[in-house]
Amino acid sequence: MARAILVGVDVGGSSTFDPTLDELAQLAESAGDMPVARVVARRKAPDPALFVGSGKADEIKALVQGHRAEAVLFDQALSPAQQRNLERHLGVAVADRTMLILEIFAARAQSHEGKLQVELAQLQYLSTRLVRRWSHLERQRGGIGTRGGPGEAQIELDRRMIGERIKSVKERLEKVKRQRSTQRRSRERNQTFRVSLVGYTNAGKSTLFNALVNARSYAADQLFATLDTTTRQLFLEDVGRSASLSDTVGFIRDLPHKLVEAFEATLQEAADADLLLHVVDAANPLLVEQMAEVQRVLAEIGADAVPQVLVYNKFDKLEATQRPRNMVDTMELDGGVRVARVFVSALEGQGLDELRRIIAEAATGTLAERLAATEAPSPGESKGDAGSDPQRTGTHHFHSSP
Ligand code: GDP
Ligand code: MG
Repeated sequence: MARAILVGVDVGGSSTFDPTLDELAQLAESAGDMPVARVVARRKAPDPALFVGSGKADEIKALVQGHRAEAVLFDQALSPAQQRNLERHLGVAVADRTMLILEIFAARAQSHEGKLQVELAQLQYLSTRLVRRWSHLERQRGGIGTRGGPGEAQIELDRRMIGERIKSVKERLEKVKRQRSTQRRSRERNQTFRVSLVGYTNAGKSTLFNALVNARSYAADQLFATLDTTTRQLFLEDVGRSASLSDTVGFIRDLPHKLVEAFEATLQEAADADLLLHVVDAANPLLVEQMAEVQRVLAEIGADAVPQVLVYNKFDKLEATQRPRNMVDTMELDGGVRVARVFVSALEGQGLDELRRIIAEAATGTLAERLAATEAPSPGESKGDAGSDPQRTGTHHFHSSP
């Protein structure tokens, strides 16, 4: 465990900036670091050389020495030049958010394909920079030791070897991908109703998965505890048929773009599903931003047309004033699509029967009808003229893409 200083920079009042740095701390712990201090700075724009200003850099350096820290972790992505300059200035390894996510994925990948994909993403990240923290990776690639720090000639040499390695990993991936598409075609022939859990990392997907299927999929207060998709049969008592339920990898803000591509296989599961259960941590203050991030990634992987049910999890953690009047209601997504929403506690069990009923209704096609009915303004409720808006009514809308 490396003792680490956490740094977050609020650049131009970004809406996703988390002044608590709690998520960065979780990423750090999940990557095997031990946060010992947190620093927050605010700038109009990142400094091109050091990302932070030189005064802030000196402050960080003093913290490094005071805490005998071995690493400094940034909540944002650093350019190769900023990272190199910071490592020189601070005298310790410097990592950014992207690196941490890649490290966690590297440690957690189980399948052959998953491992190759993470390795490729790491190599691509390395091909533009050499970083202290991953010097072991370069040596592994056959580089000549990095005694005294890498010189420019050394960097060129390592880059060439990284380039060759990238080529070989890509070739192996192509082969695995061809095998997978054969497997998928054979799965497409069977007719089960497929449900996928999606959501921001740590929302409680794996816990909910376990609660619904009584299986034991790994759940932990660590980011990305599970990477590979797990699928189980889910028996829907109400309608006497079964569906398949898949637990998938969580999404996170600034997930390295290369990694989204890399996890195409896992994410494809979501795009191919008949129904998405979008699990949300209802008690998280950044819930709105997290939901938006998930919707963005869903669109990116072509899963935005799949019908969704919003599952507001961690009901047990909500204050009395935050609790809804009804455990089940509907909510309009940004694109204007109205979806069912259910409050649950995957941990304590509230709302799970309602959720099962909603899944059963979706499987038999009656959910869309019921949603259309709830759109008509109910007596006694003043707001909501949604029913009079032709854009928002009808079962049609629920099934089509926004
Ligand atoms: P995932 O990353 O979405 O798969 O999340 P996990 O299922 O691994 O859960 C993340 C953390 O949230 C774990 O510590 C769970 O115990 C906790 N958790 C999950 N569901 C609930 C819930 O309904 N209530 C509370 N209080 N905690 C929950
Ligand atoms: Mg999980």
